[in-house]
Amino acid sequence: MPDAPDTAASAKPPRRPRPPAAAPAGQPLSGPQRALRRLGLVRDIDLALHLPMRYVDETRLAPIATLRDGDTAQVQGHVTASRVETRNRRQLVVHLADASGELVMRLLHFYPSQQKTLAAGALVRARGELRHGFFGREMVHPEWRVVQPDTPLPRALTPVYPASAQLPQAYLRKAVVSALARAPLDELLPPALLPPGLPTLREALERLHHPAPGLDAEALHDPAHPAWQRLKFDELLAQQLSQARSRAERAALAAPALAVREGGLLARLRATLPFALTAAQQRVVAEIGADLARPRPMHRLLQGDVGSGKTVVAALAAATAIDAGWQCALMAPTEILAEQHFRKLVAWLEPLGVGVAWLTGSRKGRTRREMLERLASGDAMLAVGTHAVIEDDVRFARLGLAVVDEQHRFGVAQRLALRDKLGDASAECRGLEPHLLMMSATPIPRTLAMSYYADLDVSTIDELPPGRTPVLTKVFADGKREQVVARIRDEVARGRQVYWVCPLVEESEHVDLQNATATHAELSAALPGTGVGLLHGRMKAAEKAAVMARFTAGELAVLVATTVIEVGVDVPNASLMVVEHAERFGLAQLHQLRGRVGRGAVASVCVLLYTPPLSETGKARLRALAETGDGFEIARRDLAIRGPGEMMGARQSGDALLRFADLAADEVLLERARALAPQLWAEHPQAAARQVERWLGGREDYLRA
Ligand code: ADP
Ligand code: MG
Repeated sequence: MPDAPDTAASAKPPRRPRPPAAAPAGQPLSGPQRALRRLGLVRDIDLALHLPMRYVDETRLAPIATLRDGDTAQVQGHVTASRVETRNRRQLVVHLADASGELVMRLLHFYPSQQKTLAAGALVRARGELRHGFFGREMVHPEWRVVQPDTPLPRALTPVYPASAQLPQAYLRKAVVSALARAPLDELLPPALLPPGLPTLREALERLHHPAPGLDAEALHDPAHPAWQRLKFDELLAQQLSQARSRAERAALAAPALAVREGGLLARLRATLPFALTAAQQRVVAEIGADLARPRPMHRLLQGDVGSGKTVVAALAAATAIDAGWQCALMAPTEILAEQHFRKLVAWLEPLGVGVAWLTGSRKGRTRREMLERLASGDAMLAVGTHAVIEDDVRFARLGLAVVDEQHRFGVAQRLALRDKLGDASAECRGLEPHLLMMSATPIPRTLAMSYYADLDVSTIDELPPGRTPVLTKVFADGKREQVVARIRDEVARGRQVYWVCPLVEESEHVDLQNATATHAELSAALPGTGVGLLHGRMKAAEKAAVMARFTAGELAVLVATTVIEVGVDVPNASLMVVEHAERFGLAQLHQLRGRVGRGAVASVCVLLYTPPLSETGKARLRALAETGDGFEIARRDLAIRGPGEMMGARQSGDALLRFADLAADEVLLERARALAPQLWAEHPQAAARQVERWLGGREDYLRA
């Protein structure tokens, strides 16, 4: 089909669609052109890959009398009367009749010219939903246009594109048609390498943009349709090719080889640890050690459930680097978490003669300058801190290893900045990159690891240290609050400690803070003689540290906190956690939170309080937490509920997310694309490069971890 169906006037005053060719440089863009740009539709190929979200059937006319309330249909009839009504609001009321019956078309927005066009006698084709309204059987602002008795009906379904208020469908349809004709869509992949039975990319796009006559919408919406399969495969392949390339590029870079010395710092640290490493910890320590010993930058993700003991693994990696004469930097997303690391690392490493520098935003002035000097001179071999570690004025003498905790909470740029810290060091370091170890308590489901994180090596701690008791999780409506407070009283009487977590959402920070303050007051009143502390993000770092110290020391039995305790707090005596407004948290976040209890030998409980009414999905989400304590299973369910965008932090990954492929449903295609990518780079490098360019354009960088 060479052309899209004719343009229809829509309810809003229509804009004249102009030819959608890209505006020459320097010329102002028209409204719709700007709207295209905002949707990322810049190149012809972008428009060609902008696919219909659904199809409407304009191939048939329904006799007006056959329409029932709620039917969406296309009708055609003569205008028998038309007038402007001003009752309630100004509107154009048009009576339409065909041989079978009559209806009223109501236009709430209209131009005077349209009023003329819709004069009695005009033949009108309209598509909309029939309702029983004020004027009887009516269609409120249907799509309509005036036709001639011999105006043909489209023979195929009409595509409906994702659009925006500034971008009329008609304009977008024309833009797609002409872009599709111009876009370079030659077949890049040798047919023998494609999954069997798939059309070419051009055929696939033509089929979806211009459905064949007679094809029904259901067939087109089926994700198993070969045309969709082709698009999904191509998209996955581009992603895999991009990842394979960045992996190869990294393999060509140099890093200091950090070999383990017998009887060196690593051995001495292991000997002084108060516990034996779990088998899983030993395995990942060996995996990391093997990477560090190679003269190529490590790029490894260490994943392990909350409480699985990642910090000590990081400490052992740091010891390896330091023993080889190279510095290590450890960066954590919050000051509290960074401080937890700092305390542990100082306790483990300073007795062995390692100088540790502490860098956070709140450390300014002379102490900060001192820290910077110690790092620049190599006097301090380990830096621990927040984002402050990557600030411009931080210089390392010889940075050999960078560790990022809770890596998904940092942006790509921040991780890159850490890697660049070596470049500006001494001549000996020029051309070298530090090794990079990323840690995460949010396990990445297999399909995500194979796609978005395909250029990472992954080590997994799949075992908790011995002696932990599983946390019992219960879900209650907020009405049970009094019983929960009674439970707190019991725990405190037994000498145990309790966390009470209130949500903190950035947009409503003020209200949330009031919420936390009110809860603090409520608990203080309900538990006389009990130390109840309050911790929130607006407090100064020193105040927060003081409250944390009192809780850690046991002076405070109850700690009311906003999500600042989300990660990293380690108080083995805490046995009960209450999460208020649990429905506002992500599943992974709740799982991390409850990992703060159950750290000692006592049986621990996590109470998730929700505020009714809660949707069925909302309840199902919370129930999932009560049902499983397995972080992997929770991550899998989270992925299913929220999609990969949110899991990865959509802000960083932006448009690079998959548009067509569905990681859960398309695992087979994903496997295939993954196997094909290295072969394509080896045998058809130009085709591989064009495939990446076609699909990812300038957005490739987003994909890199
Ligand atoms: P996470 O993986 O959540 O960061 P941490 O590193 O904070 O976990 O470890 C949780 C707690 O377990 C810490 O108190 C840590 O010292 C302790 N720990 C780590 N490894 C072991 C082990 N092998 N045996 C006993 N306790 C351990
Ligand atoms: Mg940790």
